[in-house]
Amino acid sequence: MAYVIVGASASGINAAKTLRENDKTLEIILVSKDEYVYSRCILHHFLDGRREIEALDFTPNNFFEMYKIKWIKGVEVIGIDVKEKKLKLSNNEDLSYDKVLLAAGSSSFLPPIENLRTANNVIGLRNLDDAIKIKEEAKKVKNVAILGAGLVGVDALAGLLDYDVNITLIEMGDRILPLQLDNYAANVYQERLKEEGVNFKFGVRAEKVIVDDNNNPVSIKLNTEEEVPCELIIACTGVRANVGFLNDSGIECDKFGLIINSKGETNVKDVYGAGDITGRNPIWPTAVKEGIIAANNMLGKEIYMNDFFGSKNTMNFCGVATMSLGIVNKPDDSYKEETQVKGKDYKKIIHKDGIIYGAIVQGDLSYVGVLTQLIKENIDIRKVKKPLFDVDYSDFFNEKENLEFVY
Ligand SMILES: Cc1cc2nc3c(=O)[nH]c(=O)nc-3n(C[C@H](O)[C@H](O)[C@H](O)COP(=O)(O)OP(=O)(O)OC[C@H]3O[C@@H](n4cnc5c(N)ncnc54)[C@H](O)[C@@H]3O)c2cc1C
Repeated sequence: MAYVIVGASASGINAAKTLRENDKTLEIILVSKDEYVYSRCILHHFLDGRREIEALDFTPNNFFEMYKIKWIKGVEVIGIDVKEKKLKLSNNEDLSYDKVLLAAGSSSFLPPIENLRTANNVIGLRNLDDAIKIKEEAKKVKNVAILGAGLVGVDALAGLLDYDVNITLIEMGDRILPLQLDNYAANVYQERLKEEGVNFKFGVRAEKVIVDDNNNPVSIKLNTEEEVPCELIIACTGVRANVGFLNDSGIECDKFGLIINSKGETNVKDVYGAGDITGRNPIWPTAVKEGIIAANNMLGKEIYMNDFFGSKNTMNFCGVATMSLGIVNKPDDSYKEETQVKGKDYKKIIHKDGIIYGAIVQGDLSYVGVLTQLIKENIDIRKVKKPLFDVDYSDFFNEKENLEFVY
């Protein structure tokens, strides 16, 4: 039996490991366009020089030998024949499978801003190759514009702080990391970043890249008519699922990406999917979990994806750590909000009918453990007798005889 995995990242690697841990004899083949295994979440540490390529690898030494996984690297899957059960590879070979997991992730998306797709020196930040290019180019220029202030844009920014360049971050929303942070928590970072010399342009739209005779960027024109000088543009304006190689295969995709059920199955028997290729909830922990779930189901062990929160992020920029979970602002007044500011530490919980829907913990993250426990144990926070932010671990040892937690 050959189990083939497309993609050597969060989903693919964890799926391969799970397959081997559960079956010592299975033939496991992993094929990836990437020539390295690395964590995209720490590419900014490569940009800022804190880590070399090898130190981005999140697998143990000799992972492929240890787990007896054949890795075909630097090769792209360009098609799939689900009747013949074969993948078409960019090296002109075919690869047969008994079962296959599609974990090919996504690619940077460049929006249709005039000249953005055609100008030189416009780079996304998705792959190691992008980071290598950014690192080279940032040493040659004076002005860098970053489009988009989501996690990727802020990573790019953090990675370039020590370069001798002027950085301008352009964002349509009113703050950085709008999905992960509220105004208060975002502002803490913005103030620090301003001290580092970063320029912010919030609430504006990039309309055109002005280029010189050699098609190199000179500036970005905003909808306010202002021109932001830049010779390098880092476009962190979203991603698109890597589903191009599934065209005409009969494997179902929608506008987001590959469609899978909670077991990781696609509409085609023996074809599974996991991670960013689905275009839903594109974060590392979800990709890992989906990879593990799909692998179990490939082996006939029925398990399901049931995440309690769509998004959970931990970040650390400018020496300030933050964990954010679920929603960051009340959707309406039926939700309640508790906040606490103590020195540099900030906490916020959003809840409704005793259930926590979102939280932000910034500064000292020790409360995250308590918060996780409150959520995991399904504790109705209306029954918590103490102020919410005073709850500590000792409270969780308060149990009835039937092991139910009491307060
Ligand atoms: C700069 C950056 C910062 C991020 N920061 C965070 C963070 O702080 N927290 C967080 O939770 N998430 C973060 N993410 C998102 C996180 O990295 C992704 O959710 C995660 O990597 C998804 O894993 P994946 O295995 O689905 O796909 P990917 O990591 O995209 O990997 C896809 C794999 O498939 C291979 N591949 C693609 N197409 C083909 C093909 N046709 N044939 C063969 N191989 C192919 C690629 O080479 C690669 O090995 C960040 C992402 C980026 C880019």
